[in-house]
Amino acid sequence: MSKTFAIIGLGRFGGSVAKTLHSMGYEVLAIDKDHQRVQDMSQVLLHTVEADTTDENALKALGIRNFDVVVVAIGNDIQASILTTLVLKEIGCPKVVVKAINEMHGKVLNKLGADRVVFPERDMGVRVVHSLISPNILEYIELSDDYSIIEVIAGEFFNGKTLQELNIRAKFGCNVMAIKNGSQFNINPAATDMIHKGDTLVVIGHNDDLKKLQEKTD
Ligand code: ADP
Repeated sequence: MSKTFAIIGLGRFGGSVAKTLHSMGYEVLAIDKDHQRVQDMSQVLLHTVEADTTDENALKALGIRNFDVVVVAIGNDIQASILTTLVLKEIGCPKVVVKAINEMHGKVLNKLGADRVVFPERDMGVRVVHSLISPNILEYIELSDDYSIIEVIAGEFFNGKTLQELNIRAKFGCNVMAIKNGSQFNINPAATDMIHKGDTLVVIGHNDDLKKLQEKTD
């Protein structure tokens, strides 16, 4: 059986999460206290409900604890986001993912027992900056404060060389996890696999080491 999701708050972020899950074939219940937002979303989704999620009885009546994952995507109303998270965890929802709008909000959510706190604006800002600094960086995923995964376009430095020749692990301390060439995706590449200019490399490593590698792609 596939996972079921409840999305609370149908603003830009929550709306996008709900529509994406729906398009991937998952069962989604979308909840908002705003009548118009619920109306708009009911054109796309099968299950939409108008409810104020700070009301414990309303959440219980929806059988919210039966959903595998609940996403709280209430934006600027921090109080509503915090109260909703508190109620969801008290009711016994197994997995509650909450959008935070700043660090302090995130800290409170963690203390309340949120299973995962996401910072979409902050994270997207970081990713966009990386692609601005170096146009060859297509994707940047922060794994921790020190480690990341980057998707980078191979330049002249890499052209016609194998991973062995480039010796990226020893020289830069990073690991090439995958090489993409057009529609071909080579995951877990061998040392003898050759890289061509324009290939996309998916590389994991310490941020300092990734930076050194990045300089070779500019
Ligand atoms: P975004 O920045 O992702 O667009 P918004 O702040 O615009 O986020 O949207 C948040 C949504 O959450 C709004 O549609 C709002 O009606 C909804 N919302 C806020 N408080 C509650 C609540 N207590 N119960 C249900 N929905 C709520």
